[in-house]
Amino acid sequence: SRDDRIARIASAIRVIPDFPKPGIMFQDITTLLLDPKAFKDTIDLFVERYKGKDISVVAGIEARGFIFGPPIALAIGAKFVPMRKPKKLPGRDLLHQSFALWEVISEEYSLEYGTDKMEMHVGAVQAGERALIIDDLIATGGTLCAAIRLLERVGVHVVECACVIELADLKWRNSRVIIFIYLGNKIL
Ligand code: AMP
Repeated sequence: SRDDRIARIASAIRVIPDFPKPGIMFQDITTLLLDPKAFKDTIDLFVERYKGKDISVVAGIEARGFIFGPPIALAIGAKFVPMRKPKKLPGRDLLHQSFALWEVISEEYSLEYGTDKMEMHVGAVQAGERALIIDDLIATGGTLCAAIRLLERVGVHVVECACVIELADLKWRNSRVIIFIYLGNKIL
């Protein structure tokens, strides 16, 4: 059943207290990847929800959205678009400004301490496309909101955001995340 699969997924996620710094309960999905059945169940649960929903873009957030996003994209027949950390995507070359395909846009978002940036290739998507955004975990929702802003800036409709894990803290409910798929949560 769905509940059995979710329980197996939840128990395959390892929780590491005080990593990478004191007070953080790090949700380590690398142990989920070591359990092929639980990993497949995770992908299947997303695919069951999104197949046939006319989604042409799966946007995955670096780095763990790059693990869950591509198998979902392949299974629902969508392309995969990486939402990357700054300066990783080849940007428009100053000498070749006509290569619109290389244009990169970025959005800043806040972290617990300071800010970070997320970047996307403009030419990867077209206005009017329907997107699903994937990451491993939602805490405040700030990361997913930056991804929503990037896609909406270029006219893409964000159908939903989906994650494997939700932290107990529900601050994200005030954010612009549309729907959240809670698959598993194991907090010590
Ligand atoms: P937020 O923007 O606050 O929703 O944070 C979500 C992002 O930070 C995701 O990309 C997560 O991978 C990462 N993250 C935040 N807190 C944790 C945690 N306790 N364990 C693992 N990853 C986390």
